[in-house]
Amino acid sequence: MVLAEREETPGTGEVIVEVAGCGVCHTDLGFFYDGVPTRHPFPLTLGHEISGRVVEAGPGADVWMGKAVVVPAVIPCGTCPACLAGRGAICPTQVFPGCDVHGGFASAVRVPAQGLCPVPALDDRTANPAGVDLVALSVVADAVSTPYQAAVRSELATGDLAVFVGVGGIGGFGVQIARALGATVVAIDVDDPRLERMAQYGASLTLNPNSMDQKALRKKVKEFAGAHGIPTWRTKIFETSGTPAGQLIAFGLLSHGARLSVVGYTPKPIEVRLSNLMAFDAIAQGNWGCVPELYPAVIDLVLSGRVALDPFVERRPLASINDVFAEVHAGGVQRRIILVPE
Ligand SMILES: [Zn+2]
Ligand SMILES: [Zn+2]
Repeated sequence: MVLAEREETPGTGEVIVEVAGCGVCHTDLGFFYDGVPTRHPFPLTLGHEISGRVVEAGPGADVWMGKAVVVPAVIPCGTCPACLAGRGAICPTQVFPGCDVHGGFASAVRVPAQGLCPVPALDDRTANPAGVDLVALSVVADAVSTPYQAAVRSELATGDLAVFVGVGGIGGFGVQIARALGATVVAIDVDDPRLERMAQYGASLTLNPNSMDQKALRKKVKEFAGAHGIPTWRTKIFETSGTPAGQLIAFGLLSHGARLSVVGYTPKPIEVRLSNLMAFDAIAQGNWGCVPELYPAVIDLVLSGRVALDPFVERRPLASINDVFAEVHAGGVQRRIILVPE
């Protein structure tokens, strides 16, 4: 990646957001290292977990001038038949910064005002119980909001069992969200430090599949649910690892009436017996991003301190982007990195 300068002028309904922070997501690495195609050709500025301040507004967007905002990773058009049906996630003209248009690994970004989520200015981190600032809020744009939408879609409620397979970026926030929504939470990951952290942040049971086979894992979850009096049909499984191994584990945990949400992404296929869905009368559902309508509820969870950001994020200067990508790609980074423009 190289530093380049570009002039941007906001068009009708668009704004320029001065970037406070932009989180580094697995998807960015997919674009950069694995040849996952972006819809806008390279050269392209990546980055879709953006928070910042509106510093310029195009015609029709002046109400946003000066506002602190989180830019949703998926920005639906708001007017097409899919959007009007409440299915903004599949809007055919949605804008995904850092894929459809230039993204947030920059000092500023031009985006549609449609869907922006206004947030308090948060210059003072002590002004809210969670000690959150605008930089930290960047991860709401994907890592926090995406598992939130998956939880809402799965109708996760008090008394349910939520099982997260993979508790890195997305899953780590997913565990906290599920706990905040009243579920009893199981965290599964191959990384013990991550599991130990999740035990502090909402997971009642942590399991490492490296120390047991699928059958034993399934038995542990089943016993735990039984001990808590939770029936199989109140089990909601979230695949948040985005790995073939995690997907196999998540599918293998399905039981009668259970629900599987596919939240993580891998381009690699897996082989499963799809008829298990039929035999278990179970449900499997994908989840793409989070519609802007749900963002205020997510912001509320964060600002009230029910979902912690700080222990799960790390700030680095934007200029270190090449090192950061290499580090995240090599694996073992425990926190989600937020790149902060100098
Ligand atoms: Zn992402
Ligand atoms: Zn639309």
